Amino acid sequence: ASFISLRDAGKIYQTRTGKVVAVEAASFDLARGETLALLGPSGCGKSTLLMMIAGLLEASSGRILVNGRPLVGPIPELGFVFQRDLLLDWRSVLDNVLLPYALVGQDPKAHVDRARSLLNRVGLGGFEDKRPYELSGGMRQRVAICRALIDDPDIFLLDEPFAALDAFTREQMQLDMQRLSLEKPRTTILVTHEIPEAVFMADRIAIMTARPSQIREIVDIDLPWP
Ligand code: ADP
Ligand code: ADP
Repeated sequence: ASFISLRDAGKIYQTRTGKVVAVEAASFDLARGETLALLGPSGCGKSTLLMMIAGLLEASSGRILVNGRPLVGPIPELGFVFQRDLLLDWRSVLDNVLLPYALVGQDPKAHVDRARSLLNRVGLGGFEDKRPYELSGGMRQRVAICRALIDDPDIFLLDEPFAALDAFTREQMQLDMQRLSLEKPRTTILVTHEIPEAVFMADRIAIMTARPSQIREIVDIDLPWP
């Protein structure tokens, strides 16, 4: 049974100058706990597809099922990481990780231990009271990842999370992500430009084309890990 299921999902943006077909018809199935990497040229519709799966954008055509049900509005239990980390510089690292609770008016105190434990797992133990502007780009993105995982979401969506980082930092981040994924298998979709990153992180790779904007091929990664 697939956990996330797309059938000819499409998106047309209405703009002042006309219509933009951002995604023509994308189909795939993802089982619970699987990681899919979404690979394709700039402008082929990867971000749009991710936003539709998150329920943040409504599909113009086709069908998206999550857990067997059609999407209605944003998925509540969702971790989302963007290319820009979107941290609040005037709040501490710890408060940034706990931000989702503050935003819905919940007391974050009950979640401080989990926040500290997540930060520890990505090498940020001891940085809880720093402000984001005191950290490097890679450290900031690690904070953003901890924030996305604070509520232990079943679905984890990442839109080119490491694109702004140098190659060395990117590799470190990939290892951190692997460590975090040991917590539990999380249904994950990772948008990336990097083929090695896709191969390292994903169980399957979906290759998207720009014209027409659709998923052309899905490749299973079956590496003989020791
Ligand atoms: P990718 O993430 O693969 O770079 P996007 O999903 O960002 O692709 O964009 C797909 C296409 O839709 C592009 O042609 C882009 O210019 C267009 N597009 C994206 N967002 C909007 C929008 N809000 N309004 C109009 N066109 C958009
Ligand atoms: P369970 O996952 O244990 O079966 P539920 O039956 O309450 O729990 O369904 C929750 C699941 O439904 C979530 O895991 C999520 O994937 C999915 N879901 C949550 N919000 C939406 C939504 N807005 N549209 C479609 N599916 C959703």
